[in-house]
Amino acid sequence: MKCEECEENEAEFEVIAEGQYKGVCRICGKNPEFVPIEKPSQNQVDESKRMWRVKEILSRSAGIPYNSPVALPNTLRTVSLEDLRRVDRDRKSAYQLRHESRMQREDEASAKSRERGAERIVEESKNIKDEIELIDE
Ligand SMILES: [Zn+2]
Repeated sequence: MKCEECEENEAEFEVIAEGQYKGVCRICGKNPEFVPIEKPSQNQVDESKRMWRVKEILSRSAGIPYNSPVALPNTLRTVSLEDLRRVDRDRKSAYQLRHESRMQREDEASAKSRERGAERIVEESKNIKDEIELIDE
């Protein structure tokens, strides 16, 4: 690619010039108005890949899909093991809460049905009593 500034030499650097990316040659790259963009070294690229892999493994082991970081706290940069533990804890307590409120609802429902059953028995025995009284007469 040719230098986008002088259009003569081979472009070797990327700079930001007037708010735009430009590939420029070694000479034009010395223009103090250009902001040089440093390319990451291979080491930095490797490290970034390694970090991503760690995140993926941690997320999977916590049962959280690593490609939906929205569900995780502080995921813009790093997810610590503590974050994952907290998510796990929150999920457990949410489950606990759901479980407890369901048990409570079931308790209330069965109490109500026992009450209705008792009322029916009282009602039926009244009827029987009435029938017995009728026979007696
Ligand atoms: Zn140039």
